[in-house]
Amino acid sequence: MQERFILKVEDLTVSFDGFKAVDALSFYVEPNECRVIIGPNGAGKTTVLDLICGRTKATAGSVKFHDQELLTMREDQIVNAGVGRKFQTPSVYEDLTVFENLELSYPKGHSVFGALVFKRDTDVRARIKEIAETIFLADQLDEKAAFLSHGQKQWLEIGMLLIQDPELLMLDEPVAGMSVAERKKTAELLNRIIQDRSVIVIEHDMGFVADIATRVTVLHQGKTLSEGSMERVQNDPKVVEVYLGH
Ligand code: ADP
Repeated sequence: MQERFILKVEDLTVSFDGFKAVDALSFYVEPNECRVIIGPNGAGKTTVLDLICGRTKATAGSVKFHDQELLTMREDQIVNAGVGRKFQTPSVYEDLTVFENLELSYPKGHSVFGALVFKRDTDVRARIKEIAETIFLADQLDEKAAFLSHGQKQWLEIGMLLIQDPELLMLDEPVAGMSVAERKKTAELLNRIIQDRSVIVIEHDMGFVADIATRVTVLHQGKTLSEGSMERVQNDPKVVEVYLGH
């Protein structure tokens, strides 16, 4: 029987000098889900992604990706297991073209009986073109990344993750600094991505959250304040109090 959840976060906790930035947090992510984490500044949102991708070591708890415990794995092992992470600031290679940026991120090959087997060039080119279309950059393949708009750089970075074929993508404020039109297209992109993957997004723009979220987790002081559909959390008196109460 297929497991219902691809990611199970249970009692996840991290303390910095005795301060619990994430405090016994639990949440489960299903296949084809876009989970959005919202919450006030300092709620622990970025730290949660840092813990899942292995950048920060947890004090306690468990993060299971299928049946693998991520908390005991290194960052590169977590990437290889199928969990991709995009940080807030785009980090593309400005001097390289869109094509070259995607090519660099393409997995180099896979090991068969200890020997590295490289993909055929034509397969790589076809995959790069397919990804470029998905991220709205099919006409910019030969453009240097330096000449792309801020929004296009964000898409390119998402493409650089997609080409590694992750099952779970984690994105930290992907539409920060984007125009309204770019935000709409990013929502379209995420809705396309969850056709065959899951996504965890940290986001502040509520209009954008409404366009993409399957479920929302409201984080407050490192704990879940509310969880469920956008409508449910928006009408939750506890959420209203945290956002409007001070
Ligand atoms: P958010 O992303 O919701 O704004 P963060 O996850 O960045 O919140 O931070 C949550 C809390 O943890 C903040 O009070 C922050 O100062 C603290 N924090 C995060 N990382 C560290 C660290 N490496 N050392 C000490 N404190 C940290």
